Amino acid sequence: MTRPDTPISVTGATTLVGIIGHPVSHSRSPQMHNAAFSERGMNWAYVPFPVAPERLEAAVRGLAASGLRGFNVTIPHKEAVLPLLDQLSPEAEAIGAVNTVVIDDGRLTGHNTDGIGFVRALHEAHRFRPRHSKVLILGAGGSARAVADQLAREGVPEMYLCARRQEQAEALAGHLAARHPECLFKTLPWSPLDHRCGINWAELIVNTTPMGMKEGDGSPIDTNGISPGHIVVDLIYAPPVTPLLARCEALRARCLNGFGMLLHQGAAAFTLWTGQPAPVDAMRRALGETI
Ligand code: NAP
Repeated sequence: MTRPDTPISVTGATTLVGIIGHPVSHSRSPQMHNAAFSERGMNWAYVPFPVAPERLEAAVRGLAASGLRGFNVTIPHKEAVLPLLDQLSPEAEAIGAVNTVVIDDGRLTGHNTDGIGFVRALHEAHRFRPRHSKVLILGAGGSARAVADQLAREGVPEMYLCARRQEQAEALAGHLAARHPECLFKTLPWSPLDHRCGINWAELIVNTTPMGMKEGDGSPIDTNGISPGHIVVDLIYAPPVTPLLARCEALRARCLNGFGMLLHQGAAAFTLWTGQPAPVDAMRRALGETI
């Protein structure tokens, strides 16, 4: 077996996968996936493709015609790529966004592995039991949609959605309720008092806002009421400890950043392309070296 740190050697028989985005140079996925192929001794390579929005259709057609096995999709193409695909997985359809495309004989299927990546990371870190948990989600954008959809699939009975634009939270609650009638979706206004109510009610709190990424950002919510009984997840992975997580750790809550989600969404994509279980530890090591 090839050692994980061996450089990829591309031959005429190499199977190609990659990522499209704009920009794409910041992506850590090439290191993570190439380490996985190397670990498994597979003649595969993962390549970044910078694709400007006005070239998206031509790029997708070109990749399909060039014999790639598939590709990841990142900002700003996750939604725009949908009409270019032949079919969608149930998750991609529910989320309305695609982060992984599988190509079979030129036929493109769109998947979204963000939700499963989130839940696997949560199970791995904290043995989370969805059927018994009440969840508060902060933010109502793309990642909130993926996380909430997957938590509902896993049997979470009740969720509060809380966003600074309440109409966005209400639209998301309506969208999810139509797909998951067994889960009760409610919204909370974005205010310190309502945050406090949500914290007292929930067992799992997930920050899906980007608040905490930038130097000088604070916590998106006041952490009064956070206790050791809470699990608090921030989807941000850089910095690894956001102001929200720093405060919650001080209050002895069980905390998790977005690194595990990033890793497990990639592991799920690896399996979709190769049909094999992903070498998660090798991928974790390679990803860790990039952050
Ligand atoms: P998005 O679609 O833009 O949604 C962001 C949400 O946060 C929106 O509801 C937005 O409200 C809200 N928001 C933005 N700034 C805010 C602030 N200062 N205070 C309160 N609410 C605010 O973004 P996304 O794709 O969901 O990504 C969100 C975060 O998750 C990013 O930090 C991203 O890096 C992270 N993420 C991590 C992973 C992972 O694998 N770990 C995967 C996906 C995303 P408005 O619409 O009003 O701005």
